[in-house]
Amino acid sequence: MIDSHCHLADDAFVDDLEEVTDRAKAAGLKSALCILDSTNPVEATRFRRVVEAWPSVRCATGVHPHQAGQYRDREDDVQSAVARAIAELPQACAVGEIGLDYHYDFAPRELQQEVFRRQVRLAREQALPVVIHTREADADTVAILLCGGCRPGAAGVGSRVLCVLFRDRHLPAGRGNPGGGETGPG
Ligand SMILES: [Zn+2]
Repeated sequence: MIDSHCHLADDAFVDDLEEVTDRAKAAGLKSALCILDSTNPVEATRFRRVVEAWPSVRCATGVHPHQAGQYRDREDDVQSAVARAIAELPQACAVGEIGLDYHYDFAPRELQQEVFRRQVRLAREQALPVVIHTREADADTVAILLCGGCRPGAAGVGSRVLCVLFRDRHLPAGRGNPGGGETGPG
């Protein structure tokens, strides 16, 4: 069993990371997918300590909808920035968490959608799965996934992206994703 969504590189685990990973291993977890915020380099640095404590751990990185405002007026930079973050993390095996959050609306919805679309396109280009965050935005989230991040109004439907399960590019052979709860503050 693996934990498919945790935030072990979060500030919250700085004081007792090794105890947390020891407990996870003792509970039978073989690995975990640690979600990183690609706009926060500190998380990538903390993630190195997570890997030291738990070498089988893997990660996803991307621009969370809460952070979409950082790309206001520079949406063109999203794909290259996330691609760079992925390239710098040997354990990266997914783009995420990405999506839409209409509950908090920390960034304008249109900007959230554009940042999300661009990351779905990046995931398609790199043949990586996506990890989705969606809150009170189900219809728009599904619509963007179904068109593969295509531009609004684009004719036709792109190849569909419904790859929520791990592609085994970096994980040990045969390791699926049975799902699981979060370790950490979501
Ligand atoms: Zn999360």
